[in-house]
Amino acid sequence: MAALREALPLTTISRTEVAIVGAGPSGLLLSRLLHRAGIDNVVLERRSAEYVLGRVRAGVLEKGTVALLDEAGVGERCRREGFLHEGIGIAFDGARHRIDFQALAESAVTIYGQTEVTRDLMAALSADGPAPRYEAEVIGIEDFDGDSPLVHYREAGETRTLRCAFVAGCDGSHGKSRESVPGRAYTAYERAYPFGWLGVLSETPPVSDELIYANHERGFALCSMRSHHLSRYYVQCSLDDHVEDWPDERFWDELRRRIDPEAAEALVTGPAIEKSIAPLRSFVAEPMRFGRLLLAGDAAHIVPPTGAKGLNLAAADIRFLAEALIEHYREKSDAALDAYSERCLKRVWKAERFSWWMTSLLHLFPETGAFGRKIQVAELDYLIGSRAAATALAENYVGLNFD
Ligand SMILES: Cc1cc2nc3c(=O)[nH]c(=O)nc-3n(C[C@H](O)[C@H](O)[C@H](O)COP(=O)(O)OP(=O)(O)OC[C@H]3O[C@@H](n4cnc5c(N)ncnc54)[C@H](O)[C@@H]3O)c2cc1C
Repeated sequence: MAALREALPLTTISRTEVAIVGAGPSGLLLSRLLHRAGIDNVVLERRSAEYVLGRVRAGVLEKGTVALLDEAGVGERCRREGFLHEGIGIAFDGARHRIDFQALAESAVTIYGQTEVTRDLMAALSADGPAPRYEAEVIGIEDFDGDSPLVHYREAGETRTLRCAFVAGCDGSHGKSRESVPGRAYTAYERAYPFGWLGVLSETPPVSDELIYANHERGFALCSMRSHHLSRYYVQCSLDDHVEDWPDERFWDELRRRIDPEAAEALVTGPAIEKSIAPLRSFVAEPMRFGRLLLAGDAAHIVPPTGAKGLNLAAADIRFLAEALIEHYREKSDAALDAYSERCLKRVWKAERFSWWMTSLLHLFPETGAFGRKIQVAELDYLIGSRAAATALAENYVGLNFD
């Protein structure tokens, strides 16, 4: 640790209470909540604001996530423009079946893109402060086992240092925060899936009013949306595939073959305005706190996107972290900071289980053969025929209650 500090030409040293690494949804939301509580903080983000806004990712928000956006004073547009979805379709064996969230779990989810959540947070922070520091890449974090951690970063070609009381590691799965912790200080639990998702964004009307998750012998497909004229579709693909292997025509043909006939008939196609392949992974690092360095969001855990939990879990961590830091500053108590890791991980593992289960139920796993396929179909049949099974899906999808 000391070696890094001594090796760096420290040209500028500044000070804040909470240094936040990363301006994804986790970092921006935490910054905003702390700012509203009067706690000084600085967000350091290695990319430009435009780059961060250009990333197309999650789009399903749990009720608790929308409530947290309200608390941060940025929920108004989401409530106005987001779509309230009271169910999803599950397609298999040539038919589509509805899981009714309202009837089964008395709740719903909101469809509102992660890009829009990010845009709303950015607008609030630039109007009201503190403005995140873009193109400021954190290169090392030290002394988080003491009272005064140091965050070293590169900005405008210079190496600078931020001294703080706490570091919030909100820098995603490949960030510097977890990397700064010695490997022996945490346990990593991981599962990589033998396939990826090829996603297409197109300026076409969504094929259905609700999301459709399709299990097909050719592989999984998902019909999702961002607005009345912006659709997001996915098909399961090989990890060896490249985006260039999938011209638009091939993508639309494959999607049509995997979804139910009614949806295939209604599908409106158009040029892809974004196309990308994402591998699927489950990952958890335990614990999530190392002295005065606290991890949140993708920096601590990853879920396959099948259960729509990534962004919602990140928001849940931030809710706990903001509460803990506010308690530290207002009440001079560290009880919530001490409980932070355990509180988060309880929810994280439930979301990991649900995301793993949805992934296992809906994707083609070639290595499980004909037996695996028969078991999947039997489970899907049970799901649509049993109120208890459908309720378990609905409860988890809309988001479990906070303890
Ligand atoms: C390709 C992709 C598709 C996804 N699709 C879905 C989906 O459909 N549904 C769903 O629920 N979830 C999805 N997710 C997950 C969801 O988007 C994440 O859970 C969510 O973005 C987590 O937010 P975060 O702020 O914790 O991390 P991130 O959004 O990853 O933000 C981390 C930020 O830290 C910055 N950073 C990294 N290193 C440094 C450094 N050294 N210094 C400064 N800044 C740094 C990064 O540039 C980034 O802006 C997807 C994720 C990916 C990667």
